[in-house]
Amino acid sequence: MNQRTHAWIAIRAIKLLESENKVPQLIKLLKPHAKEAAIGAWIPDKRDAKLGGSKTQNHVFKMGPYNGNLKSRFVVSQKKLAKKLGSERLVTSFIAANDAILDQAWWKQPYKADPSPGQHLPNRAMALSINNIDMLILGDDRVQRLVPGRVQFIEKVRPTLKCSSGQIALFFFMLSHFLADAMMPCHSDERDLSDYDNGLHMQLEKHWSKKVGTFFTEKKLIKNNPSVSEVLKKAGEVDPAFGLEFQGIVPEMGSRDVWEEMVQVCRASFAVASIIAPPARWPYKPASQKPAPFDLLFEQDEPGRKLLAEVDRVIMHDAVLNVAMVWKHIWEKFS
Ligand SMILES: [Zn+2]
Repeated sequence: MNQRTHAWIAIRAIKLLESENKVPQLIKLLKPHAKEAAIGAWIPDKRDAKLGGSKTQNHVFKMGPYNGNLKSRFVVSQKKLAKKLGSERLVTSFIAANDAILDQAWWKQPYKADPSPGQHLPNRAMALSINNIDMLILGDDRVQRLVPGRVQFIEKVRPTLKCSSGQIALFFFMLSHFLADAMMPCHSDERDLSDYDNGLHMQLEKHWSKKVGTFFTEKKLIKNNPSVSEVLKKAGEVDPAFGLEFQGIVPEMGSRDVWEEMVQVCRASFAVASIIAPPARWPYKPASQKPAPFDLLFEQDEPGRKLLAEVDRVIMHDAVLNVAMVWKHIWEKFS
């Protein structure tokens, strides 16, 4: 996903949590810094960041068929995955509606990811989640007043060493990047067709950022300095472009564990990639062949255009929901 899509997802998650009103103190902490999402939510893809660079796919969970000795460990039935993801995620019903493409034989096969060291997407989400909990523990006076409970040792920490709400917000936005990328099908599919330069990946991201619009670019959000209420209002105005209707509910994470939750989300993303480019036509490795072009998949006929609209809605809805769910999960560690 591009910079402005990542910024929008993070800001939209603030708005969703605000409307649910279950973690008002967290909103008080994040909301004043909402426009900094233009920077924070994009840091993991910035070249300055270690392993950064948006084209290098430096945080992925690319799955494919597994032929090792532990087959049963890497089979997750559709029913089990649906239960783990929960009915509030739209990807659950999207997968069920496409069972003609991914039939039960597909779900009986083992699929596994083998990310390079440092690139494991659920690892990176988990690491930042724990880091963010620690930052909240080490928060300055204002943060301490917002976070439930009392940190016993905090008086012993020098004020200049404590974390400000701005620093913490920036790290929450960085975390949102990984939680959103877990929903991007090309990050979870090992076929060549999902490589950034092979068409589908790059064009999907361009297609989304066009819908998000230029208000969420780094330049506009940081330089023009719009008010917080305008930023949140504009975030809501993007919904119709993706056919989104949020129900105002942010469910508990089924697994209660960020690593486990993101592994399941990536498994769902791999299923979405396999619905977009069915393996019967675009086989998995080692038979993986030519790229699957965006226009061929989505722009040739009415079913393609319908599929794209569905993909837009499902991915953007669940990306926002993932962010809101994990942020809320972190906050609830304190209540
Ligand atoms: Zn990324």
